[in-house]
Amino acid sequence: MLLFKRQNDLQKHLNVQKNSGYRIGFVPTMGALHQGHIQLVKEASKACDLVVVSIFVNPTQFNDKKDFERYPVSIPADIQLLEQNGADVLYLPEPADIYPDGIQALEHYDLGNLEKILEGASRPGHFQGVCQVVNRLLHAVQPHSLFMGRKDFQQCAVIRRLLRLTTHNTELIICDTVRESDGLAMSSRNRRLNARERELALGIFKALQHIQKGLPHHSIENLKKEAYTILTEHQFRVDYIEMAHAQTLESLESYDPAQDTVILIAAFQGEIRLIDNLFLPSTVSLSGKH
Ligand code: AMP
Repeated sequence: MLLFKRQNDLQKHLNVQKNSGYRIGFVPTMGALHQGHIQLVKEASKACDLVVVSIFVNPTQFNDKKDFERYPVSIPADIQLLEQNGADVLYLPEPADIYPDGIQALEHYDLGNLEKILEGASRPGHFQGVCQVVNRLLHAVQPHSLFMGRKDFQQCAVIRRLLRLTTHNTELIICDTVRESDGLAMSSRNRRLNARERELALGIFKALQHIQKGLPHHSIENLKKEAYTILTEHQFRVDYIEMAHAQTLESLESYDPAQDTVILIAAFQGEIRLIDNLFLPSTVSLSGKH
């Protein structure tokens, strides 16, 4: 695996590969890598000739300074994991390589309602920061395909919108959420949970499953209340529990199996804010739709 710290050097290398007809797959990350990230690398390896991974803890997407300062960093272990799993290039920039003019007065993206709801409402400015960094990374790498995880469901919708707002010639490929054996969604933030919190953290997946199982027969209002109880029994402080339209992320009052739907939860376990979701694709086949 080759490691680049500067965009210029990275681009020189990638241009040679592109001129040889290589398809470039790109996996942007903030490091503290786990099997969720590695699945993206593996999917990219299958679909592309060359896999570029970036590790950059982007300051502009943290609305909470403490969360940024405490974000886990494990570069040597990350490098080892990437080498073992088929990444070809690691881009590991310093902030000045991404933001040469600093992080004041950066551009603004029209994300519409997407940044006013759910994560957007709870973390003001977060998705602007995500777009600012992903746009710069896409300029640096210019990949054919961009691989992202469904774990960050709303982020995928935001990036789909960013790709429409910009001129990048990149397709977005979304990969399923990778879970621990008990069902907890893998996350770099899980590393900050102590043993007791780690055990309790499973409540978030249990609450999601409870809603999913109850859906065809029970009202979403009651299921959300029961999910709230499950979360509080697991010592969670709930931020939101929502069922939403999978494309627009608008909240839904009732479940329609013909509609792609997603159940989303954000909640604090101790100081750590965790998010998870279950995607419920339409159960009506395309030929059955009118
Ligand atoms: P992060 O390092 O948290 O910014 O995540 C980098 C990429 O990995 C994003 O596209 C995430 O959605 C994805 N990702 C994080 N956790 C998981 C997971 N458990 N399963 C699948 N993808 C994930």
